[in-house]
Amino acid sequence: MAVSTRNATLLTRSAGAVWHPCTQMKQHETLPLVPIARGDGVWLYDFDGRRCLDAISSWWVNLFGHCNPRINAALTSQLEQLEHVMLAGFTHEPVVELSERLSALTGGRLGHCFYASDGASAIEIALKMSFHFWRNSGRAQKTRFISLANGYHGETLGALAVTDVALFKDTYAPLLRQSAQVPSPDWRLAQQGESPRAYAGRCAQALERHLEQHHAETAAFIVEPLVQGATGMAMYDPEYLRRARALCDRCQVHLIADEIMTGCGRSGTFFAHAQAGITPDFLCLSKGITGGYLPLSVALTTDPVYAAFYDDSVARGFLHSHSYTGNALACRAALATLDIFRQDDVLEANKARAAYLNRAARSIAEHPRVRNFRNTGMIWAFDVDTNDPAFARKFYQAALARELLLRPIGNTIYFMPPYVIADDEIDFLAARTLATLEACLA
Ligand SMILES: *Cc1c(COP(=O)(O)O)cnc(C)c1O
Repeated sequence: MAVSTRNATLLTRSAGAVWHPCTQMKQHETLPLVPIARGDGVWLYDFDGRRCLDAISSWWVNLFGHCNPRINAALTSQLEQLEHVMLAGFTHEPVVELSERLSALTGGRLGHCFYASDGASAIEIALKMSFHFWRNSGRAQKTRFISLANGYHGETLGALAVTDVALFKDTYAPLLRQSAQVPSPDWRLAQQGESPRAYAGRCAQALERHLEQHHAETAAFIVEPLVQGATGMAMYDPEYLRRARALCDRCQVHLIADEIMTGCGRSGTFFAHAQAGITPDFLCLSKGITGGYLPLSVALTTDPVYAAFYDDSVARGFLHSHSYTGNALACRAALATLDIFRQDDVLEANKARAAYLNRAARSIAEHPRVRNFRNTGMIWAFDVDTNDPAFARKFYQAALARELLLRPIGNTIYFMPPYVIADDEIDFLAARTLATLEACLA
């Protein structure tokens, strides 16, 4: 492999000075970093013009392709007006307009937007706000949180406490508050002959038993609606969310919808919880919200929650802040992203795109070593029948050699492409995935 000087120089400098995320850096002795010089649509290019198709939207953030001309134009024009101003005591057009439009997308039911810069911080905000709501309401004993088995909510200490991924969590256990996990409605765990909906119902009964015992000290139940992403794209029936909503209402426990991954159209509807016909008490968004351009997250909540903080007493207010709260450029990128949803009728177009991908991937779904091929909206996943503990790393490298960016989670391979992927690019994705699979299983 001929690597140009610019590529090589960047790799050496990166390994020397940059501590990369979610990485044992020593592995880069044998697994080279990938230098990226520019992006265009679904494609990423190095300095030699070598390309790869970004089939996972750069960790699930990119919606409308790299260097999208419309988002670029909106940001360029915002740069001429205002790059940032503190949001304590000040306000600006992009943050007001974004809050109004997000609220409208929830049918006005979640009318109050609190901003941060990354997903985990939005989770921290929802957890703190829920606890503080109960405290302001004279229920200070409600301090505990419940989450799903195999749930992922980010890696700051509060978010990690409700995350259920041993590899990320065990090391830090002494630093974390205990939280309780209830069974995941992941339909792969259903008994033979049991439908996903029946299994969701059975899991809801387990939640009910937990809540009946612990509601007095429980502030909130946090879920990833419809798809549990980081632990391998576990999908489940919306019935679970309907039952969870009713149980949380009955037991006076908040429902937090972590839509950091499933939001912004990824699940097929703009918000995944809408497929269950429910409204959560808190909704956390990030990742796709700026089209994958800038770090921005938001926790939306209801009038009753907002009202419980509205008081003459400063200490009853929500005294939480981040320096870049409501950053004007990030809000502008989010507005440009919402404009594209409207102008291009993206949710409708994605239905045809998803149907095309399902057809193109048929030979993957029918492969003898592939299990549980599944799809929700613009998320696809399947499990590969292999005992090779290094499968994920081998597949990642073999895919890159075939111009594909795919990053399996254990034995689960998933596609989460940008919404601008064209039919011929879908064909490319399907054919190269199959070829990579064959090469790795040979
Ligand atoms: C990515 C993710 C987070 C954390 O977001 P960060 O921006 O990485 O902190 C939280 N919850 C879900 C469901 C996610 O997919």
